[in-house]
Amino acid sequence: MDIMANVLLAAGCSPAMAHSLDEVEAFVGISSCLLVNMGTLSPDWVASKKLAARRAVELGKPWVLDPVGCGATPVRTASCLQLLGCGPSVVRGNASEILALAGAAGSGVRGVDSTAASKDALEAAKQLATAHKCIVAVSGEVDYVTDGKAVVGVRNGHELLTLITAAGCSLTALIAAFLTVAPQQPLLATVHALAVFGLAGEEGLKLAPRPGPGSLRVGLLDMLHLMDEATVKAGARIEVVA
Ligand code: ATP
Ligand code: MG
Ligand code: MG
Repeated sequence: MDIMANVLLAAGCSPAMAHSLDEVEAFVGISSCLLVNMGTLSPDWVASKKLAARRAVELGKPWVLDPVGCGATPVRTASCLQLLGCGPSVVRGNASEILALAGAAGSGVRGVDSTAASKDALEAAKQLATAHKCIVAVSGEVDYVTDGKAVVGVRNGHELLTLITAAGCSLTALIAAFLTVAPQQPLLATVHALAVFGLAGEEGLKLAPRPGPGSLRVGLLDMLHLMDEATVKAGARIEVVA
């Protein structure tokens, strides 16, 4: 929660990390976008995630699902599936999470271990996007974004990002931030959030005093704050795949 909130602040947003059953609906009411992160799954938190998601849909606000660890335990997979059923605008996971989610959603795709490459989950992502009428992003060395038909690849990022806890969660939070700017263009918003996050990692590492995850964590935050249009235009590596 610390790094997710700091990533959002550095990018110019005004985040609130709300999870109380009594409060989430009111918070959705005053928010531009909702992020549902499945990291912590105590029963009352799962209930408040569902309440928040349903409220966002009622109010016509975009919301983003991060199916953290989907496939790791039966409860986790079932909870992620329930939230998927609440109608997210965008789902972002790593390859194993997207494979597990699609498998649980009945796509016939079988989940594999965390060594899966993002490309291995592309078919699963397309099936999920089509079946649930949402955008699905799979992160990895190359990030893929699809609406079920179009596929866009983003080649920004650095392997060291995988050694920072909740880098993926923060990436999903940044997608939510970009959706607030372009709620009617979720594919475009997602692609650009992935490019900017990855680029902030690349550039952040250049600023870092040492080439390690601790310095990268700091450099990533700094670069999200310092990022300008020229840096994005020069550094974004986005390509239409299909
Ligand atoms: P977390 O463990 O924090 O939940 P995650 O597994 O959900 O993370 P990742 O797939 O690790 O998410 O993606 C986090 C960021 O790291 C993304 O910006 C992604 O593009 C980048 N990334 C992941 N693997 C690589 C890699 N091999 N090379 C370059 N960038 C990478
Ligand atoms: Mg990871
Ligand atoms: Mg993750």
